[in-house]
Amino acid sequence: ASAPAMLEVKDLEVSYGKIKAVKGISFTVGQGEVVSLIGTNGAGKTTTLRTISGLLRPSAGSITFQGKRIDDVPAHEIVVLGIAHCPEGRRIFPQMTVEENLLLGAFTREDGEIGKDLQEAYELFPILQERSKQPAGTFSGGEQQMLAMGRAMMSRPKLLMLDEPSMGLSPLMMKRIMTTVRTLQDRGTTILLVEQNAQAALRLANKGYVLEVGKVVLQGTGRELLTSDDVRKAYLGED
Ligand code: ATP
Repeated sequence: ASAPAMLEVKDLEVSYGKIKAVKGISFTVGQGEVVSLIGTNGAGKTTTLRTISGLLRPSAGSITFQGKRIDDVPAHEIVVLGIAHCPEGRRIFPQMTVEENLLLGAFTREDGEIGKDLQEAYELFPILQERSKQPAGTFSGGEQQMLAMGRAMMSRPKLLMLDEPSMGLSPLMMKRIMTTVRTLQDRGTTILLVEQNAQAALRLANKGYVLEVGKVVLQGTGRELLTSDDVRKAYLGED
């Protein structure tokens, strides 16, 4: 039996003017799962995440989170509902300190436990604590990715969406980031992971979806997709 769907995306269509980038995709993310969306450049992965976050509006279809339609909810309220987005390119604020960047992730919170979550972010990534007073712009790509993930966790998300966290990272740093994804899952966070690195993303995934030019062309468990001939040929560089 599969976990109850926390997020359900149904027949989603998203356009930029006359260009339809997402052409009717459907997928579900169950509570506690890691779900990976893979596919080449331009497949519509980033557009899908930005639409779930409320930064773009769908032209058709629905997005349901914990039983509630969210496809017309403003972005700042979507964060409050429990969805955090760690964007492509990380988008940290380079002139602000590491700690200031982390605290920005908690801007929607009204409870008094932000200090505790800051400690958790530091525990997850000790380097953030060591350099907490440094401008974030001095960080390497991998460190910036840690900061972006730590910042996203500061909203205490139920669902964490990660857009290409491994982009531009060394294999070692990539491994570190992927291990952290698993740690966050073990601690109860549900994760929607977008990756061009299909192998790494499918190894972690309970479920995966392969996107091509705005459509889901294959889906299955992480293991099924890793061993599928079509996926191996197209995305894992094997013949
Ligand atoms: P990438 O890994 O490059 O982010 P992706 O799978 O995330 O790829 P999207 O970024 O969602 O793909 O892009 C899907 C399609 O939408 C592409 O054809 C892209 O050119 C187009 N697109 C993306 N952003 C815009 C925009 N702001 N205006 C017009 N077209 C866009």
